[in-house]
Amino acid sequence: VIEHGVPEHSVTTTCAYCGVGCSFDAEMKGEEVVRMVPNKNGGANHGHSCVKGRFAWGYATHKDRITTPMIRKSIHDEWQQVSWDEAFSYAASEITRIQAKYGKASVGGITSSRCTNEEVYVVQKLVRAVFGVNNVDTCARVCHSPTGYGLKQTIGESAGTQTFDSVMQSDVIFVIGANPTDGHPVFASQMKRRLREGAKLIIADPRAIDLVDSPHVKADYHLKLQPGTNVALISAIAHVIVTEGLVNEEFVKERCEWDSFVEWRDFVALPQNSPEVLGLAMGVPAEELRAAARLYATGGNAAIYYGLGVTEHSQGSTMVMGIANLAMATANIGREGVGVNPLRGQNNVQGSCDMGSMPHEYPGYRHVSDEATRELFEGAWGRPLSNDPGLRIPNMLDNAIEGSFKAIYCVGEDIVQSDPNTQHVTHALENMECVIVQDLFLNETAMFAHVFFPGASFLEKSGTFTNAERRISPVRRVMTPKNGMEDWEVTAKFSNALGYPMDYKHASEIMDEVASLTPTFKGVSFKKLDELGSIQWPCNDEQPLGTPTMHIDEFVRGKGKFFVTQYVATTEKVTPKFPLILTTGRILSQYNVGAQTRRTKNVAWHSEDIVEIHPHDAEERGISEGDWVGIASRAGETVLRVKITERVQPGVIYTTFHHPESGANVITTENSDWATNCPEFKVTAVQVTRVNQL
Ligand code: SF4
Repeated sequence: VIEHGVPEHSVTTTCAYCGVGCSFDAEMKGEEVVRMVPNKNGGANHGHSCVKGRFAWGYATHKDRITTPMIRKSIHDEWQQVSWDEAFSYAASEITRIQAKYGKASVGGITSSRCTNEEVYVVQKLVRAVFGVNNVDTCARVCHSPTGYGLKQTIGESAGTQTFDSVMQSDVIFVIGANPTDGHPVFASQMKRRLREGAKLIIADPRAIDLVDSPHVKADYHLKLQPGTNVALISAIAHVIVTEGLVNEEFVKERCEWDSFVEWRDFVALPQNSPEVLGLAMGVPAEELRAAARLYATGGNAAIYYGLGVTEHSQGSTMVMGIANLAMATANIGREGVGVNPLRGQNNVQGSCDMGSMPHEYPGYRHVSDEATRELFEGAWGRPLSNDPGLRIPNMLDNAIEGSFKAIYCVGEDIVQSDPNTQHVTHALENMECVIVQDLFLNETAMFAHVFFPGASFLEKSGTFTNAERRISPVRRVMTPKNGMEDWEVTAKFSNALGYPMDYKHASEIMDEVASLTPTFKGVSFKKLDELGSIQWPCNDEQPLGTPTMHIDEFVRGKGKFFVTQYVATTEKVTPKFPLILTTGRILSQYNVGAQTRRTKNVAWHSEDIVEIHPHDAEERGISEGDWVGIASRAGETVLRVKITERVQPGVIYTTFHHPESGANVITTENSDWATNCPEFKVTAVQVTRVNQL
C-alpha cells in the first residue's frame, strides 16, 4: 500500500476507474499524493471505496509514462522526440495531405470513456468541424452502444433510469449479465445491504458470480443460461407475464403506445416463446423461468441491473429493448426502487456518449441528420457540418483494409487490445498513413502510430466524469501535468494547427459551451458542481438541481414503445472442432486491459488472466489445475493457465482480458450486434487443449 507522509492539503476529485464514479479526497504533500480517502459526501459512494480507487493510482507517476511528444515517418522507424509545436504541425500537415489525396472521409477520430466530458467534446468537435466529417466513435462501441440504441428506441433516453441509492427501495433485484462485486464493487455493497434486508435476487448469468452464493447473500434464482441466449430468456419471461395476466395494463394504457404493446404481447404469447420451448435453447428449466418471471412481476418494486453480458452479443440491442419491455409491462419504471439500470464499465461511458462521440449523434443524442440541430452547431462552431452519419470503429477498420481510410486520431483508447479480432485491427492500422495516439503510455495501438501526443492522468486535469446514474462529478487537478498540458488542451492546440482556433482557457469554458448547446445540460456549470458536489442530468430550467429518477410522469419520448424480441441464435456455433463456448469478464483488482492497474506498485495487481473450465471438460481433455492450455477459435489462438471450477457449466469456459500477453481478443470473432456493431465478445466457439508447461 502506497501511503506515506503527512498531507498538507486535499482536493476532492472523482475515481478514474469504473462507472460507479466514487468521490475521493486526494490528500497531497506538495505535488505528491499521500493517500486517496473516499469522500463521505460523494453522491455515488457516501464515503465508501474499493481497492482500485483507494490504492491503484500509482500509474500516474509510473516510469512508463511518456511525457514528450514523438513522431516517426514509418512505424518501422525509431521514435523522434520533438517539441509540442513540431508534433502538432506534423500531425496537422499529415491530416491535410491525406484528406487532399484521399478525400475528407479518409480520416476520423476515436475517443475513450477514460476521457473527461470536456475532452470528448473537443475531440468530436475537431472531427466534425475541422476534419469536416462525422467519423468519430468511442469505445462505448465495444461495450454499451446497444444500451444507447435500445433505451433510446423504447423509453427515449440513452441512459439508466435511477440513482444507485434507489436500490434501497427495491424488493426484487434482477441482475442480468453483470458481476457487480467485481465490476462495480461499491454499488455491489449497497445492493448486498438491501439483499440482507430481505430483497429477493434473480441472477441470469452463464457463470456463478459471487452474488449467486456468498456468505450473506444467496440468489433466489440463478438462471444459468447458455451464452448467446439472452433474448430467449427475456422473451420467455415476457411470455409468462403476458399469459399469466401479470401485465399492469393500467400503466401500459396510460404511459405506452398501445399498438406497440399489443404487437409485443401477441408475439410473446406465442407458444414458440414459452419457457418450455425457449428453456431448451437456454438450458434453463421452464419452472425456474416461470418462477423468476412471477417474482419479477409481482414481488413489489423490481429493478433490473445489467452489464456487458447483455450488450456484447449479436442481439445486444434486442435484449436491451426486451429489458425495457419488461419494465414497462410491469410498471417497474418511473419511481424509486425500480427501473432499467445499465452498469457502465468505465468511469465515463455515459459521459463519452452524452458528449456526442458517436458518428450519428451530436451531444445530447441528437441525430446528425436533424436539420435544426445541425444548424445550431454550425452557428456555434462557424463551420459547415455534414448531415451524414460517419463511420463506426469497425467501418473505419474495414475501410482501412480496403484502402479508403488513412488516418486516425485516437485519444485514450487502445483499440488493438480492446477491439475484437486483433489481427484485423492491426492489419487495418498497418494500412493507415497517419495514426495519432494520445495516451499516458505507449500502448499496443501506439506500436502502429506515427505521432504520439503524451496525455495527462486524471490527477493532472480538470473536467467532469458522468457515471452510470447520469451523475456528473468534478475531476480536479491535484498536480501539474507531467506532459505540460491537459488533454483538452492537446486537442485544442492540434485544432489550432489545423487552422481552426479553439481558445478555451479552462475546461469549465468547454462545459459552458456544452450547456449552451445541449438542453439536458443547460443548467450544468463548474460553479454549480462546486456548490452541489455532483449533478444528475437532465439539469435545466425544469430540473435545476438535476434528475435522480427519470420518466416519472412520462417517458422522454412521450409514450413508451414496445419492440418485438424475436430470438435469433448466434451464428457462432459449437462444432466438433470448436466444441466449447468461451465467455469473458473481469476481476475486482484489475481494470479492463490493465494499462493502469498493471502499473501500480501493490502486489495485489500482479495477477494473470486465467481460464476457468468445468471439471467434466477438464477431465475429458486430461487437463489438471494450473496446466497451460491452448485456446483456439476460428479467429486465432492463445495460451492461458487453467482453473478448474464448477462456477462455469459444462461446455462453457471463462476468462478475463486484463493482460496484453494473454490476448483474449486474439480469439474473439468479428460477430457483432445487428444495430450497433457492438462486438459479440461474450460468445466464441473454441477448442481447449493441454500444452506443455511454458
Ligand atoms: Fe473507483 Fe469504481 Fe472502485 Fe468506486 S467502485 S473506487 S469508482 S473502481
